[in-house]
Amino acid sequence: MKWYQLTTEKLEETLQVKSNVGLGEKQVAKRRQQYGENVLAAKKKIPGWILFLKQFQDFMVLVLLAATLIAGLLGEYIDAIAIMVIVLINGIIGYFQEQKAENSLEKLKELSAPIASVRRDGQWVKIPSKDIVVGDIVRFTSGDRVPADVRVIKTTSLETEESALTGESLPVAKHTKEIRMDGLEAQDQVNMAFMGTLVTRGSGEGIVVGTGMKTVMGQIATLLDNTKKTITPLEMKLAELGKILIVVALFLTILVVGAGIFQGHPMYEMFLAGVSLAVAAIPEGLPAIVTVALSLGVQRMIKKKAIVRKLSAVETLGCASVICSDKTGTMTENQMTVKEVYINGKTLYVTGDGYQTQGDFLSNQKKVEDSHSNLKSMLLYGMLCNHASISTKKGKNVVDGDPTDGALLVAAYKFGFHENDKQPFRIIKEIPFDSDRKRMSVVIEDDNGMRLLITKGAPDMLLPRSSHIQTKDGKTILTKEQSKQTEQAMVGMAEKALRTIAIGFRVLSPSDSLDTALLEEDLTLIGLYGLMDPPRKEVKAAVRECKEAGIKTVMITGDHAHTARAIANHLEILPESGKVLEGKELTQMSDAELVDTIEDTYVFARVTPEHKLRIVNAFQEKGHIVAMTGDGVNDAPAMKASDIGIAMGISGTDVTKEASSLVLMDDNFATIKSAIQEGRNIYENIRKFIRYLLASNVGEILVMLFAMLLGLPLPLVPVQILWVNLVTDGLPAMALGVDQAEGDVMKRGPRNPREGIFSRGLGYKIISRGILIGVVTLIAFIVAYQNDPSNLVYAQTIAFSTLVVAQLIHVFDCRSEKSIFARNLFENRYLILAVLSSMLLLLVVIYFPPIQPIFHTVSLSVVDWCLIVGLGALPTVLFGFTKR
Ligand code: ADP
Ligand code: MG
Repeated sequence: MKWYQLTTEKLEETLQVKSNVGLGEKQVAKRRQQYGENVLAAKKKIPGWILFLKQFQDFMVLVLLAATLIAGLLGEYIDAIAIMVIVLINGIIGYFQEQKAENSLEKLKELSAPIASVRRDGQWVKIPSKDIVVGDIVRFTSGDRVPADVRVIKTTSLETEESALTGESLPVAKHTKEIRMDGLEAQDQVNMAFMGTLVTRGSGEGIVVGTGMKTVMGQIATLLDNTKKTITPLEMKLAELGKILIVVALFLTILVVGAGIFQGHPMYEMFLAGVSLAVAAIPEGLPAIVTVALSLGVQRMIKKKAIVRKLSAVETLGCASVICSDKTGTMTENQMTVKEVYINGKTLYVTGDGYQTQGDFLSNQKKVEDSHSNLKSMLLYGMLCNHASISTKKGKNVVDGDPTDGALLVAAYKFGFHENDKQPFRIIKEIPFDSDRKRMSVVIEDDNGMRLLITKGAPDMLLPRSSHIQTKDGKTILTKEQSKQTEQAMVGMAEKALRTIAIGFRVLSPSDSLDTALLEEDLTLIGLYGLMDPPRKEVKAAVRECKEAGIKTVMITGDHAHTARAIANHLEILPESGKVLEGKELTQMSDAELVDTIEDTYVFARVTPEHKLRIVNAFQEKGHIVAMTGDGVNDAPAMKASDIGIAMGISGTDVTKEASSLVLMDDNFATIKSAIQEGRNIYENIRKFIRYLLASNVGEILVMLFAMLLGLPLPLVPVQILWVNLVTDGLPAMALGVDQAEGDVMKRGPRNPREGIFSRGLGYKIISRGILIGVVTLIAFIVAYQNDPSNLVYAQTIAFSTLVVAQLIHVFDCRSEKSIFARNLFENRYLILAVLSSMLLLLVVIYFPPIQPIFHTVSLSVVDWCLIVGLGALPTVLFGFTKR
C-alpha cells in the first residue's frame, strides 16, 4: 500500500500516532535513531589540511620559499630556517582566521535553519525542521515550506506549489481523502504534500511519512552544495585593488633590487631582500582579512538579534538611506487588545489589558447587560471566524495564531464565552485572511444543518459588501445614513490609533452556492471592533537615531490611514509636511507620479504587497538604498527588489526568510537600526586597517628604496622585514578590525555605495604617513650608521626598531578620521594588548642573546631608545592632530 491510498485511521495505525496528540518524547527518540535527521545530505567539506596548504599557494610566498631554499643550500642556515618559521607561522595564523570566519558563517546557517510546527504530547511546539521524524504531526500555512513528506489530514484552502519536484508551476489544491488508485506520480498524489514545496495558500496539517533523503525531494536532489562562497562587492573591489597594488609593489621592489645591485650589493643578497620585501609589501591577504572582519561583525550582529544571511548585506547596510518597515509587529508589539466595540450605533468601551480574559464592556461607564443579544452574536461570530487559540504559559495568557484573531477571542471570553461554545458548530468552508483581501470568512453549520457565513475584515472591505445592518430592532436595510455613521465610527477609532475590524454575516440556505467568488456578498453588518496594538518602546528612539544618521523611516501598513497616521505621529515618523499615501491613491498614480511624491511620503496605509514593490522601485529611482521588511508570502518580490530585504524571525514565513538578506530575531524595528549601525562600523573598521596596513607597507618599501638610491647598505635584513610583516602589521590590524565605533557613525549621512575605498581622504593619509614612516626610519638608520660605520648590525637594529615603533604609534592615529585625540586612546583593549605584545616581542628579539643572531640584532642603550621613540613618534605627531 502507498501512503496516499490509506485512510487517516489506517495511517495513524500504521505510524502508531494519534493525530490530535502527536508523538511522545520516547517515540521521537527511538525514531530519530531509526531514521536519522530530516536533512538532505550535503557535499563533503574541504578537509582542514587542504585549507592549511592553501595558505601557501600565493605566488610570492612560493618564490620566497624557493629563495630561502637557495639561501639554505648556500649555507645561510639560520636565515633560511628563520624565514621558513615565519612563513609557517603566517600560514597558521591565516588558517585559523579563515577557520574562524568559516565557523561564524556556519553558525549563521544554523541560526537561520528552518523551523517547523509539530504536535508533540498534545502540544504544538516549534522545532528545527531537521528534528522531525516519521509519524510527527506537522502543520503549515501559506508562505511555509513543507518540512517533510506528509500525508495531508486537515486543510483549509490548502494549495502548494511543487515546481521544484514536478516542473509544474501552477499551485495544486490539496485534500485529505484517500485515493484508491495505483501507480500515481507525485503530482497526482493530491492528498500528499512534499518536502521543500511551497504552501501558496491556506493552511494544513499532515502526518509525516518520509524524512531526509527518503523524501521525494531527497531522491531527486543532487547533493546540496553548502560550500559555495559568495564574494561581497567590497571583497571584489579589494581584489581588484590588490592586483594594482601587487604591480606597484613589484615594480618598487624591482627598483630596490636594481638600485642595490647598481650600488654594488651582492646580487644574491639583494634577491632575498627583494623577495622578502615583496612578500611583506604585497597586501595579498587583504580580501581575506576583510572577510574575517565582516564575519566578526556578523557575530556582533547576532548578539544584537540580527542574523545576516548574506555577507554582502553587512556592507550594504551601511549605505541604507531608507527603511521601509511594516508597522504591525515591527514598530508595534503585535499584542492586540479590543478596546472599543461599535454596535447598535453606539460605542462600548472594553476594559482589561493584553490577553488577560478579565474585563468588562462599558456603556456610559455602566456595565453592559448580559442580555445584549447583538453584542452576544457579534462576539460569538468573532470567535467562530477565527483561527487563534489561547493558552496559559507561565501564568500568562499567550495567543497561538494571529494576534488580531486572538484579541477577538479574548473579547468574547471577557463577555463570558468559553472555548466550548464553539462546539455546536462545524466549519465547512473557509476563505483565509490575506493582506490583499483584508478579510476572512468561514461558513459554519450546526447540528440542524443551519448554515451561516461569517465575514470579518477591514471595514472599507465589508461595507461595500453589506446590504443590511443589525440594529436594536433586528436586521434592517443598510441606509446611506447608517453607512456614513459606521464609517465615522471607524475613523473615530482609527484616530485613536486603533486598528479596526468589521464583522458581518449571511444566513445561507442549503441551496446557496459555496463558491468563493460569490460568498462574501449581501452581508448583514453587526459592528466594529477597535483594537489597540501599542508601539514598541524602543522604536521612537530608533527612528530619531535613524533621522540623525540621514536615514528616512517609512511606515507601511495594511491598516487604515488614520490608524497609521496616529501611530506614525506618536513615533515621530511623520514630519509636519509629510504625506500619508493610501493604497487606492497609489494604484491610480503612474510610476512617474509616485517617484515625484515619494520623497515627501512617510506613511503608506491600506497597501497590498504589490504596492510595496512599486514603493521600493520608486525610492531606488530616486537613488536611495532601500531596506524593506516583509512577513507574508506576497512580500517576497518587494524584498528581493530592495537592496536589503529584512524578514521577521518570529512571525515571518519561510519564503520571506529565503528572500531576505537580514532576519530580525525579535521582529523589532530597533534591531534594524542596530544592524545598520554595526554595518557602518564594520566598514569604518575595514577602512582603518586598510589605512594602517598600507601606510606600513609604503613605509617599509620606501626606507629600502631610499637607502638603495642613496648608496647605503641594506637598512633592514630579510628576517626583520618578514617579522614586521607578521607581528607589527598583523596583530594591530586585527585589533583595528574589532575597534569600537567612532562616536559619530550614526551622526552622519549614509555612505555612497559607489564611493571608492580611498575616498574621504584615506589615500592621502596612507601616502603621507607612509612616506614619513619611511623617512624617519631612514634618518634613524643614517644617524646610527654615521656614528659607527663599522657596526652595520647596530644601525640595522635601530632602523628595525624605529620602523616598528613608528607603526605602533601610528596605529592609534588610524582609529579616527579626525584626530588622534578625538578618541580615548585606551578604549580598544585588543589594540593595547596587540601593541604591548608587539613591543614585548620586539624587546625579546633585540635583547635575548640566543635570538639576536637570528634577527641580526644587538642590544640597545637608553640613548638609542630616545632616538628611536623620538623619530618613531614624528609621523603621528606631525599629522595626528589634523583631519587631513
Ligand atoms: P498590517 O500591515 O498592519 O499587518 P494587515 O494586512 O495584516 O495589515 O491588515 C490589514 C487590515 O485587515 C486590518 O486593518 C484589519 O482591518 C484586517 N485584518 C487584519 N487581520 C485580520 C484577520 N485575522 N481577520 C480579518 N481581518 C483582518
Ligand atoms: Mg498583518
